[in-house]
Amino acid sequence: MDDKQKEELKKKIKIEIEHLTMLVDDLKETVAPVAPDAAIGRLSRLDTMLNQGINKSSISQSRERILKLGDTLKRLDKDPFFGECEECGETISFARLLALPESRFCIECAE
Ligand SMILES: [Zn+2]
Repeated sequence: MDDKQKEELKKKIKIEIEHLTMLVDDLKETVAPVAPDAAIGRLSRLDTMLNQGINKSSISQSRERILKLGDTLKRLDKDPFFGECEECGETISFARLLALPESRFCIECAE
């Protein structure tokens, strides 16, 4: 990976982190507890609780990904083996890294 690709990847990761952070903020608003006396019907309350469950897991998934991406940013600078598959040592394709910067395995080993 050359420096230009590294910069491109860093930019991509930063945008992704920003995007996920905004998503988490949005989702956080949707999981605020619904007051029991809120003027919504029983069905919409059920619906809301269901959606909140889904949104809560999206929040934790997004948070986890933010951490992974942050870690990837650090590795990009410090790890001389960044971009090599941890399983077979082959170079992970740049297209794959752009799509999934936190991937530590090449496409064959990931499957
Ligand atoms: Zn591999």
